[in-house]
Amino acid sequence: MSIPRFWRHNKSRYNLIGTRCVKCDETYFPPRKLCPKCRRKGELEDVNLKRTGEIVTFTVIRNPSEGWGNTDPYIMAIVKLDDGPSLTTQIVDCELEGIEIGQRVTKVFRKIHEDGDSGLIHYGFKFKPLD
Ligand code: ZN
Repeated sequence: MSIPRFWRHNKSRYNLIGTRCVKCDETYFPPRKLCPKCRRKGELEDVNLKRTGEIVTFTVIRNPSEGWGNTDPYIMAIVKLDDGPSLTTQIVDCELEGIEIGQRVTKVFRKIHEDGDSGLIHYGFKFKPLD
């Protein structure tokens, strides 16, 4: 599993940057260069997405692959952002049994991958439950 390119892009690392089509008002994440609805007629601009959304579906990963830091089970979820787009993300700071569909979540900035050989540590975003 490789780190998606947009995570390495500085701007989208600290904020949740998507793109919005000026023509049809559709919001995309990860950012797109072309609106699939409007094609050449569309015009995309960067938008700073809200950091909150809700869990659409989730799964508990019980056999994490090696090299992903910790080997404890963790939760991967599809989160629908309040601004519209959905994304796949890890849910942190919660009990495995404490998550349900519809749970409100918010973005946090966390270590996502540690390369044991090179000592490189990659950061990106995850989501945690909102009280
Ligand atoms: Zn469009």
